[in-house]
Amino acid sequence: MRRARDLAVCSRIFSTIPSVDAIPSEIPVVIVGGGPVGITLSILLSKLGVQSLLVEKRCKLPDHPQAHFINNRTMEIFRRLDGLGSKIEALQPPLDHWRRFTYCTALDGLVLGVVDHIHPKGKHYFFAFFFVPTNVAHFSQHRLLPILVENATKSGVSLDPISLQPNQSSIFMGYQCDSIRSSLDKVVATLRPTGSTASEKIVTCQYLVAADGAGSGVRKSMGVTLQGQHNLQQLISVHFISEKLSKYLVDNRPGMLFFVFNPSAIAVIVAHDLRLGEFVAQMPFYPPQQNADDFTESECQKTIRQLLSLDIDVEVKSVKPWVMHAEVAEKCLCGEGGRVILAGDAAHRFPPAGGFGMNTGIQDAHNLAWKLAAVLNSMAPPTLLETYETERRPIAEANTALSVENFKAAMSIPSALGLDPSYARMVHETINSTVGSILPKSLQSQVLDGIFSVGRAQVASVFLNRYNPVAQARISHVKKILEQGKSLQLQFPAEDLLFRYTNGALVPEDNVEESSRERQREYVPLSVPGVRLPHMKIKVLHGGSPGSEDISSTLDLIHPSRLEFLFLVECSASGLNWAEDALQLSKSSPFPLRVVVLSDQTARDAEADFVGSWKERNAGAYTEVVAADKCNWWELCGVSQPGIVILVRPDDHIAWRSSKQHGSKSFEELRLAFDSVLGWNEKLQLKSAGCK
Ligand SMILES: Cc1cc2nc3c(=O)[nH]c(=O)nc-3n(C[C@H](O)[C@H](O)[C@H](O)COP(=O)(O)OP(=O)(O)OC[C@H]3O[C@@H](n4cnc5c(N)ncnc54)[C@H](O)[C@@H]3O)c2cc1C
Repeated sequence: MRRARDLAVCSRIFSTIPSVDAIPSEIPVVIVGGGPVGITLSILLSKLGVQSLLVEKRCKLPDHPQAHFINNRTMEIFRRLDGLGSKIEALQPPLDHWRRFTYCTALDGLVLGVVDHIHPKGKHYFFAFFFVPTNVAHFSQHRLLPILVENATKSGVSLDPISLQPNQSSIFMGYQCDSIRSSLDKVVATLRPTGSTASEKIVTCQYLVAADGAGSGVRKSMGVTLQGQHNLQQLISVHFISEKLSKYLVDNRPGMLFFVFNPSAIAVIVAHDLRLGEFVAQMPFYPPQQNADDFTESECQKTIRQLLSLDIDVEVKSVKPWVMHAEVAEKCLCGEGGRVILAGDAAHRFPPAGGFGMNTGIQDAHNLAWKLAAVLNSMAPPTLLETYETERRPIAEANTALSVENFKAAMSIPSALGLDPSYARMVHETINSTVGSILPKSLQSQVLDGIFSVGRAQVASVFLNRYNPVAQARISHVKKILEQGKSLQLQFPAEDLLFRYTNGALVPEDNVEESSRERQREYVPLSVPGVRLPHMKIKVLHGGSPGSEDISSTLDLIHPSRLEFLFLVECSASGLNWAEDALQLSKSSPFPLRVVVLSDQTARDAEADFVGSWKERNAGAYTEVVAADKCNWWELCGVSQPGIVILVRPDDHIAWRSSKQHGSKSFEELRLAFDSVLGWNEKLQLKSAGCK
C-alpha cells in the first residue's frame, strides 16, 4: 500500500515532460542522471544555496530493485537531510526480517548454515547510539528514489518547470544530455527530450557532474577509461512478488539473502521487503546462448518454484540482465579545467558484494557538494575541487578491492560444495570460442545446460546425504567457512566509518600508532586528519542556534545548510585562547568558522575564573556542548594529551588538528592551516605535529 502511494506521488510529479523553453540557458551546475547519487547531490547543493539543474533521461523512476543496504555513513548523511534517515528507518522492514543470510539447497531443503550479520561471531554490529547516531538500513533503491525526490522538494528543488523561480534548482525528468563541450572556463551541454530529435536546449554551466551511472555516456564522451576487472560475472535479475513465500519466510526463516544451491538452478534470492512480498532472484546468465527474452514469466515462475521447492504464487514484475565489474575511472575530473566531474557509478562500478556501490556514490556527492559551493561562492580557489579526485579515487579503489574480496568470499561456498564458479565460466567461454560460431544458439544452450546440470547434481539430495562421506566433508567445509566469518559479509565497520583521506583538503599527519589502529577491521574512533568526526551523544549548553534542540550528536554540529568549518576545542585556558583566535580569524576569512567548546563536567578549578570571564566576553559567539552520557569524547578518540584543537570540514571530515598549547604563534598556525586546507596557500606543505 505504502509503496503504491510513493510511486503514485512520483508519477504525479513527473506526469508531463516539460518544454525545452522551461530549461534555463545558464546555470552554475548541471547534474546528468537522476539516480541516488545525482538526486542526493541536487539536495546537498540546494541546501548550500547552489543552483543546479538535474536532467534524468527516464520519464519515471525505476521500479526494478537494485541496492538495498545503506551503510552507517550514508545514514549519517541522510539523517541530517530533513529527517530522511528517520523516514528510512520508519519505512524499512523490521531488523529481524533482514539480519540473516541463509545457505540452503531449497527453502524447505537442507539448510547448510545461517549467518546473523548483526551479531556475527559474538560481535555487535548495530552501533547506534554508541559509535553512530543512526544505524545501517535495509531499504530498496526503488523505494528510496521517490523519497529522495520528495526530500529534494523540501530542500527547495523544483519538480515543476512552470513555477520554476529564478535561481531555483530543478529536476527535469524525461531529458537526456546528448553531448557536452568543455573548455577552461565553462561546460556547454546539449539537452533534449529523451528519444526526440525535434527540440534541444543548449545550457552553459560552470561545472557538470556526471552521475549517469555505470555505463556513463559522459565518461565515454570525455575519453576517460576504466581501470580494473571487466565483466566478472553476468547475471539476470528477476523481480517478483510472492505473498506465500513472504509468509513462509516470516514464519520460518526470515532473512535478507537466501543462497540456494539446487540441482535445477543456483540463485541468490534477495528479500527486499518481506512485508510486501517483494523479492529479486539473481541467477547466472550466459549470453549469447541465453538472452533476456528467454526469461519469460512462465520460465521464471517454474525456475523460482523449483529453486525453492515450494508451491508458491510468483508474480514476475520485471527481468533485467546486468554485468558485474570491478573498475574505477582513471580520473574523476575531466576536460580542460576539470569542469566535468564524475560521481557514483560513473566513476566506479563494483560487485554489489558488501553494498558499497550506492553508498560510495552518495559519499562522493557529500564530498563534492561543499567544495562546489565553496568554489562557486569564491570562498575557496577552484583548485579545491581537485581534492575531490585526490580524496575519493583512493576510496573508490579500496572499496573496489574490498567488494572483489567479498565477492570471492561469496564464491567460497559454492566452491566448497563442488560447484566451482570459475569452472562454469570456463565452460561458457570454451563454448563461445569453439562451437559458438557453428552450432545454432538453441543447441549451444542445451549443451551448456547439460554440462551445468551435471555440475549441479552435486547438490542433489541423493548426493548430499549423511551416508555420503564426500558430501559430509563438503558440508562441514561450508559450516567452517560460515563459522569463521569467511563467507560474504554485510558489514565492514572500519571501511564504513573510518575511511580516511590521506591527501587533499587537509593537513596530513603521520602517526604510526593510529595508522595501525586504523588497519583493524573493527571501528575504532580516531580524530586524525582525514577521518570523519567521531560521534558522541551531546547536549547543547550555550549558544545553540535555531534547531539546536535537535542536536544530539557531535555530527549534528555540522549543519547541511551552513557552509562553515567547525573549530572544536576543550574547555581549558589553552583551548579557549585557540577559540578566540578562531573567532578572530572568522571575521577576516571568507569561510566562516564556528567555534564549539566541548566541555567535560570536570572543568579545572584553577582555570575557573579565566573560563568564566572568557565565556562572558564571547557570549553568543560560540557553542558550548557537553557529553550527554558519562563519556569523554577526547578519550573516545584515543587522544591522551590535553589541549588538542580540531578543525572540521563541512562534510564532517577532520581537516587539521594541533596538540600544541596555545601560544603567540597559534593564530598564525591556525590561519596557515585553514588556508592550506582550502588551497589558498598551495605551496605550504604544513605538516602537523602528531598527537598521541
Ligand atoms: C543487484 C544489485 C544490487 C546492489 N546492491 C547494492 C547495495 O545493497 N548497496 C549499495 O550501496 N549499492 C548496491 N548496488 C549498486 C547501486 O545500485 C549503484 O551503485 C547505484 O545505482 C549507483 O547510483 P548512481 O546514481 O551513480 O547511478 P544510477 O543509479 O545508475 O543512475 C544513473 C541515472 O542516470 C540516468 N542517465 C544515464 N545517462 C543519462 C543521460 N545521458 N542523460 C540523462 N540521464 C542519464 C539513468 O537513466 C539513471 O537513472 C547494487 C547494484 C546491483 C546491480
